[in-house]
Amino acid sequence: MRSTMMDTPLQVSRLLDHGRTVHGSSEVITWTAEGARRTSYAEVGADAARLAHALRDDLGITGDERIGTLMWNNAEHLIAYLAVPSMGAVLHTLNLRLFPEQLIYIVNHAEDRVILVDSTLIPLLAGVLPHLSRLRHIVVVGGGDSAPLEVASGGGIAIHRWEELLRGKPDRFGWPSIDERDAAALCYTSGTTGNPKGVAYSHRSIYLHSMQVCSVEAFGLGPASKVLAVVPMFHAMAWGLPYASFLSGASLVMPDRFLQAAPLAAMIASQRPTLAGAVPTIWTDLLAHLDANPTDVSSMREVVVGGSACPPALMHAFSERHGVEIIHAWGMTEMSPLGSVSRPPAGLAGAEAWAYRYTQGRLPASVEGRIVGPDGSVMPNDGKSVGELEVRGPWITQGYIGDAEPDPEKFRDGWLRTGDVGVLSADGYLSLSDRAKDVIKSGGEWISSVELENALMAHPAVLEACVVGVPDERWGERPLATVVLREGSSATPAELRDFLAATVAHWQLPERWAFIDAVPKTSVGKFDKKRVRAQYADGSLALSSI
Ligand code: ADP
Repeated sequence: MRSTMMDTPLQVSRLLDHGRTVHGSSEVITWTAEGARRTSYAEVGADAARLAHALRDDLGITGDERIGTLMWNNAEHLIAYLAVPSMGAVLHTLNLRLFPEQLIYIVNHAEDRVILVDSTLIPLLAGVLPHLSRLRHIVVVGGGDSAPLEVASGGGIAIHRWEELLRGKPDRFGWPSIDERDAAALCYTSGTTGNPKGVAYSHRSIYLHSMQVCSVEAFGLGPASKVLAVVPMFHAMAWGLPYASFLSGASLVMPDRFLQAAPLAAMIASQRPTLAGAVPTIWTDLLAHLDANPTDVSSMREVVVGGSACPPALMHAFSERHGVEIIHAWGMTEMSPLGSVSRPPAGLAGAEAWAYRYTQGRLPASVEGRIVGPDGSVMPNDGKSVGELEVRGPWITQGYIGDAEPDPEKFRDGWLRTGDVGVLSADGYLSLSDRAKDVIKSGGEWISSVELENALMAHPAVLEACVVGVPDERWGERPLATVVLREGSSATPAELRDFLAATVAHWQLPERWAFIDAVPKTSVGKFDKKRVRAQYADGSLALSSI
């Protein structure tokens, strides 16, 4: 028997229409050098219609042509997020921290026709412009001299101003009906090995994912929420927060390019967000700032932290010193990106609840997970059997853009191989020990680099610690600990090793130590372990003897 239900397509334009009308007075607050700039969702909706008219009528964009954005988190980027998919075109968020050759690669690979660029990023775009073969138009957002673009384009690319393009355009657009399985937005991975790989989110996957982001088991968004979205809109769709906010009426605080701890603290104090999302390194910096400069952060109920493992010491410090609860979450660009969120089972408190909070969290119904051993056999969800996590579900990609067949290294029998190693418990909680490529293989045993880092970052003198495996004649690989000390603190390798010995098995303790000024970070703010290994290999790390 077929159901009697309507087959209404799930479309981004529905999120847009709903947010601009039902939640028209919710706001996106963009941080600027002069403080906060406020735009209501009603205005965002009207500007989204104007942008769609400009792209169609003035720039001739039709069908599923790709529109790139080289932008920070701000109101105009939100407008593009909504307008471009709603008109049937495809949004391509460009990671402005990629190496120039990677930026060139992804713009050409996606065949972007238009790039919307924040005027502060004109020099970056001008530098790669001569290599962007399919690009026809650039739209500059904000003031600032566009002459470098004109020079670099050699006159072959039309350069427009956002304000002029949108001026006088109708504030309504007849959004087309779109197959919900068609692409709405593209995102490329940060490509730490080889070229970045692209995934195409569908209208359907974005819609379903947004509902999950809003749910109580994830961010718990509603019209009274105000979300400080630190996670960049050019990385994994800002965790879906822009769309989820339009769906739920949550207001957004957007930091634009002001991502340092001091302006973030000022934003929290003055705009009073109720929750936030960012990678651990941002919160590590913010914590040091808040400890040194007491700031009123009492508005913040929770901050969701993911992108790499969140050190338990960071969670405790925020909870105990600043009254802010860090909620650990895990996801991937390939999965829109939300996977698990670590909310403990009901009724637990104290140490029992904390043990759950340290995990990567519980997988929701729409994200099915399994642990697979090295021989390809599926292992039990018993909290003990360690293997690679594989996932499948309606907002998880089944391949990369342009691949004739799903890459067997990344996909198996309709499951995405995450490259993450860990366990699943019977009640659905995921505990990751490491990325497969970062696990340290020492004398036939595995050492989790993340476990050593977390243990080290619990030492009061340690600001950040990054542990990598390095070649060792006797054991194959051994851990190298690189440590950033807090300002004004000191510690010796022997002291840190003794400190580790309290919680870490003796054979796992690193013999190699280096004190460094900062851990190198990837384009999305994660520890760049590849670079640390290379620094060790080329002898540029000054090792401290133990
Ligand atoms: P990239 O691959 O470009 O770094 P992604 O954000 O897609 O960007 O990376 C996804 C990966 O980040 C995951 O496969 C996992 O290794 C890591 N990750 C994300 N969240 C967590 C977390 N909470 N704990 C441990 N690792 C995480």
